[in-house]
Amino acid sequence: MTTAPPYAWQNGRIVAWDDCVVHARSQGAFWGANVFEGVRAYLNADDGRSYTFRVRDHLARLRRSMKSLHMEIDHTDDELAQACSDLVLANDLGVDVHVCVVAYFDTGPNFDPLAHTTDTGVHITSTVVPRSPAYERGVAATVSSWRRISDDAMPPRIKAGANYHNSRLAQHEAKRNGYDTTLLLNQRGTVSEAPGSCVVMVRDGQIITPPGTSGVLEGITVATMADLAAEHLGKTVHRREIDRTELYAADELFLCGTMTELLPITSVDRIPVGDGVRGPVTHALQERYDEVVRNRVPRPDWCTPVEPARAEVP
Ligand code: PMP
Repeated sequence: MTTAPPYAWQNGRIVAWDDCVVHARSQGAFWGANVFEGVRAYLNADDGRSYTFRVRDHLARLRRSMKSLHMEIDHTDDELAQACSDLVLANDLGVDVHVCVVAYFDTGPNFDPLAHTTDTGVHITSTVVPRSPAYERGVAATVSSWRRISDDAMPPRIKAGANYHNSRLAQHEAKRNGYDTTLLLNQRGTVSEAPGSCVVMVRDGQIITPPGTSGVLEGITVATMADLAAEHLGKTVHRREIDRTELYAADELFLCGTMTELLPITSVDRIPVGDGVRGPVTHALQERYDEVVRNRVPRPDWCTPVEPARAEVP
């Protein structure tokens, strides 16, 4: 049983965790009509401060998701970014935390699940999500028997709660079959992504990830990884379709996501990836990623200090 933190944030104010509620008949809770973002706040042990990582980019993606749904909310990005800081400070958990910002459709007119409504809300929760115990040893993946949802039916580019039904089917199947995670093929039969992460392959010295048109969420971690690969390894990340059998031929594979961070995949369908252990490119990128998210190498465009709102200058 996990202990809940003391506070959450909902519609403009910090509330007790138990008071952060959405009605059972809201379109968000009942039909999954919500969009969300997961943001990490990392602690820098050297300066004792926490930093949210790429919170502005997450909020920009949240806006894009809302735009597709004609959803409007009462808060600006400045307010939401500050709300994330306020919540991390209020909970004072003293460790790395994962912050979820959810914008949802509320009850709306006539309890009609499909009625458009301007009745919306936002809640933010922060929880402790420790780094995966498989960060060094890696995870065993399988190729899912489920296909990834596609842009012409249920667009993965829109980060909607309802999309995770597809992720859930795939992840639970994999777990029941004794794997840690799974990779889904898209409707064309090429590799899309994992249930909650992008996938990256290293093959013959090239770093390759499926393009944004492969039935994937346009990942912020994978974009960060691409910048770090260019800056530190002098490598351009190639975006092209990946065939299933390339997963078996790959030298290295790893997952990329805010919650997942960079996580080695050491086998696919019981076939070892490369030597079956974390590869050197994955390891080097993990080290650079860990430095940058904690603002050890200052990146003010990416790392926002968690601090109270500055008083306005009169
Ligand atoms: N794909 C899916 C389905 C996800 O849920 C996530 C996590 N948000 C990702 C990819 C990775 O995205 P990001 O790096 O922006 O967290």
